[in-house]
Amino acid sequence: MKWNIRMTRRRFGKAALSGAVGAAALARGGSAAAAPPTGRQNGWRWCSKCQSLFYGEHISSACPAGGRHVNAGSYDYDLRHYGFGSGEAPRVQPGWRWCSKCQSLFYGENTASVCPSGGSHVNANSYNYALDFGGDGTAAPPGAQGGWRWCSKCQGLFYGGLGEPTGGVCPSGGPHVNANSYNYFLFFL
Ligand SMILES: [Zn+2]
Ligand SMILES: [Zn+2]
Ligand SMILES: [Zn+2]
Repeated sequence: MKWNIRMTRRRFGKAALSGAVGAAALARGGSAAAAPPTGRQNGWRWCSKCQSLFYGEHISSACPAGGRHVNAGSYDYDLRHYGFGSGEAPRVQPGWRWCSKCQSLFYGENTASVCPSGGSHVNANSYNYALDFGGDGTAAPPGAQGGWRWCSKCQGLFYGGLGEPTGGVCPSGGPHVNANSYNYFLFFL
């Protein structure tokens, strides 16, 4: 069975998160021995207006809170990726994509997404980004920051902290939600 994380998480729920991680690893079957991500790319930023992660090296972007994303006060996040290929490694989740319309990072393995520029996010010309993750009680590795969450409404990654059910501004309306999300770890420079 291919590890199709299209919300594999849903089947386990937040309370059983550590179990979900183990089950996901088992479900990956033959791909469990895949190589770790091969590339790194910094320049990713946190937007204090909407809490999203976005690529900050491009001039244009679209923030669901209006106007452009802002990078004031943000670390310089250093993401790992598999280039344009596919790959999986333990406790690392590939399938995250850059949207050229709004510059946000979003989970691209689910069909429905919501872009603040209108319509869905697009993954054309994006690397296949891989994010480290753990359960809510798992400490972030050295050099990384935890508390990043997947929003099931828009598929975006946002900074939601821990123990907060919602945060920021979601392009589908209201705040982002973190239900059923792993605790993602982002490395920064
Ligand atoms: Zn923003
Ligand atoms: Zn977008
Ligand atoms: Zn959202």
